[in-house]
Amino acid sequence: MKAPAYKRILLKLSGEALAGSQGLGINNTVIKQIAQDVAEAFKAGVEIGIVIGGGNIYRGVAASAEGMDRASADYMGMLATCINALALQDALEKENVPTRVQTAIEMAEIAEPYIRRRAIRHLEKGRIVIFGAGTGNPFFTTDTAASLRAMEISAEVIMKATKVDGIYDKDPKKHTDAKKFDKISYIDVLNKGLEVMDSTAISLCMDNKLPIITFDMTQRGNILKAVQGENIGTLVQ
Ligand code: UDP
Repeated sequence: MKAPAYKRILLKLSGEALAGSQGLGINNTVIKQIAQDVAEAFKAGVEIGIVIGGGNIYRGVAASAEGMDRASADYMGMLATCINALALQDALEKENVPTRVQTAIEMAEIAEPYIRRRAIRHLEKGRIVIFGAGTGNPFFTTDTAASLRAMEISAEVIMKATKVDGIYDKDPKKHTDAKKFDKISYIDVLNKGLEVMDSTAISLCMDNKLPIITFDMTQRGNILKAVQGENIGTLVQ
């Protein structure tokens, strides 16, 4: 098997990815496939931290648009990410991958609290660490949490797994002439308003020179390919 191109990565999985075509909740077949793909990449010898979103269960912004207090709605969104984190832990352990869940909001009975040094130790010992509850702060997203955790654990890259095979100049589902970028700069992503990650997350990566790779995770085996350095999506640097 081809050696991994990275020693340590941060994988960002959106909550929606777990829902499959049903759009909401957790689809057991889909989460099993994701766990198998992550396990395959992990067994190639790369250390993996995972930040998981919560959009398949609850999104703070959407709820606040309907009148709910934004901070309360965001806390609910963060709790949703913890549900996903536990589901992913279970699925990964069924693939014989040792894992730990650490949450930014303490819930000692079900997960460890987020402690940076301990997270790094887990990674060194060959465990995947799943980070739940985002940053622990309302008004942020799990994309920003991914950027933050990636830097804290000294990951070499953020791998943002999506449903699209990279970044396009316009929505490829609506425009047949949409052009895909192989590489793009952070500032171009921001200036062109391209939907990769929110601007807080992109800015944090830009300021700290952390590359982002976006790719289509619905294609089986793509996480391994990305980890092996294959050019399967778009590189933001
Ligand atoms: N959230 C938050 N602070 C964070 C991370 C997440 O308040 O640091 C809340 C926010 O309400 C968000 C929800 O959690 O809508 C779910 O996260 P996100 O929308 O990023 O999930 P994804 O789109 O990746 O599924």
